[in-house]
Amino acid sequence: MTNLIEDSLKETSDGFIHYSDGLTEVGLLTSAVIEPQKSINNEEYDVIIIGAGFAGLIAARELSLRGRKVLIIEAKDRIGGRTLTTQVENRNFEIGGTWIHWSQPHIWTEITRYGFSLTESKGAAATRMSVLLDNGTKLKEVPMADHWVAMGKAMEKYSDVDGFQGRTVMPLPHTPFTSNEAVKMYDQLSMQDRLNQVINSLDDNNEEIIQMLLSLLSMNMQGNIAQGGFIDHLRWWALGDYDMNRMFEKLGRYKIKEGTSALARAILNDCQKVTLLLSTSVKSIDRTSRNSVIIRTQTDELLIGRTAIVTVPLNALKKIEFMPSLELQKQEAITIGQCPGGIKFWVKLEEPVGNWFGFAPYPNPITMAYTDDEDGFFIVGFGPDGILDIQNIDAVEKELNKLLPNVKVKYVLGHDWRNDPFVLSTWSWYKPGQMSSSLMALQKSEPPVFFASGDISNGWRGFIDGALESGLTSVRHVQQYLTKCST
Ligand SMILES: Cc1cc2nc3c(=O)[nH]c(=O)nc-3n(C[C@H](O)[C@H](O)[C@H](O)COP(=O)(O)OP(=O)(O)OC[C@H]3O[C@@H](n4cnc5c(N)ncnc54)[C@H](O)[C@@H]3O)c2cc1C
Repeated sequence: MTNLIEDSLKETSDGFIHYSDGLTEVGLLTSAVIEPQKSINNEEYDVIIIGAGFAGLIAARELSLRGRKVLIIEAKDRIGGRTLTTQVENRNFEIGGTWIHWSQPHIWTEITRYGFSLTESKGAAATRMSVLLDNGTKLKEVPMADHWVAMGKAMEKYSDVDGFQGRTVMPLPHTPFTSNEAVKMYDQLSMQDRLNQVINSLDDNNEEIIQMLLSLLSMNMQGNIAQGGFIDHLRWWALGDYDMNRMFEKLGRYKIKEGTSALARAILNDCQKVTLLLSTSVKSIDRTSRNSVIIRTQTDELLIGRTAIVTVPLNALKKIEFMPSLELQKQEAITIGQCPGGIKFWVKLEEPVGNWFGFAPYPNPITMAYTDDEDGFFIVGFGPDGILDIQNIDAVEKELNKLLPNVKVKYVLGHDWRNDPFVLSTWSWYKPGQMSSSLMALQKSEPPVFFASGDISNGWRGFIDGALESGLTSVRHVQQYLTKCST
């Protein structure tokens, strides 16, 4: 890849910081903003990739390293998609996708390849824990060790649909339909339906534990658990080795020290002969001719490729017109969309609070929050739906005070992914019934158009790892197709 200005931070229009003195900055500094390529040659590409998130970037690298001429078209002014590292006071903040784990095979390969390292969110293994009870009116500090173990037991009951901790339903989570009939059956349940089945057997009858369980379940799907598919819980549970501690360690403890944006840059830098167009949104994809794809941008520029890989997030796909229309089942799946997710924010406190973790069940505006650094100056928080306006520092401080009385917020930063027109969701969580009705249809290639996304992968769907898996799968399909066309 040429024309990159190395290691300089530039401002993306995504994200914001609000300071307690009223100062507001819209846009964040990041290494993910690349010097734009001013003009492109009017030539035919082997592959046009739509979207420069991890699915698109990995596909671009692998195809270009196999000698394919690749064009990436990205609507945003930066690469990385739903991941974005910004620096404030010389500290990395991950605004989108953050935590990874060595048991996530595709991301770990990249960590090894580029010699990156991990850093730990300290509060993920906190010693001090608070739970908000009685509809957000009563705060209780609880001993982490006891309650974490008890919550693990409650989670086991919740997940144990078959007497084997869900193993017979999801024995091979990277091949999610291994037990097809069982998957279909449990896919009909919402997370709330499953809770209703087991609520009376959560025997310790300990309200704190139940509320913690509810917080974690709602946090995982970032909304009302009546709207989240139970099968996605079982998938996370299986990927987490059917164990709550291990699951949580994989979901929320270890971050890329250099930052996700540095990893996105590293992948892009490795590309050969790839042209990248930023701030260019695709309006329509015409594959009428079958031997080529004509991409029309918002400014009516036409770009031609032998194939295209569409890596647009599931909830934003409906904005692109396909000619001829996509297969009916795929169209229906796009119309249904996935759960839109909720909010994520970071705050810096005036005074540190040490090592801390807080839970608050739905519909509290913050369902989970924890400290990130050793001293406890920095907290990451999550909430369901769009209940909390994270751009309002007073509102964030008020809600945080319910979990951590009297703390003062110095600044809050984040990005409104739910309302970002090119994303319209956070991480993938399907609605009840959606995995069995839609996943395979969404994955299906319609040559010369192929699909890849962290929202349609098999294993770690909803994660950076899943985006890489799906991007790599599309590379295999495109290569097979192009090779067949040339023989
Ligand atoms: C708040 C948040 C927290 C998360 N936490 C974690 C975590 O801790 N760990 C983890 O592994 N994962 C996490 N995830 C999920 C992870 O970030 C995503 O699953 C992954 O990054 C998706 O990659 P992708 O390439 O499939 O899609 P994206 O990264 O969304 O890339 C798709 C790209 O397509 C572009 N696009 C859309 N429409 C058009 C168009 N019309 N024309 C051109 N381009 C278009 C978009 O701008 C975007 O850049 C989180 C996500 C969010 C939002």
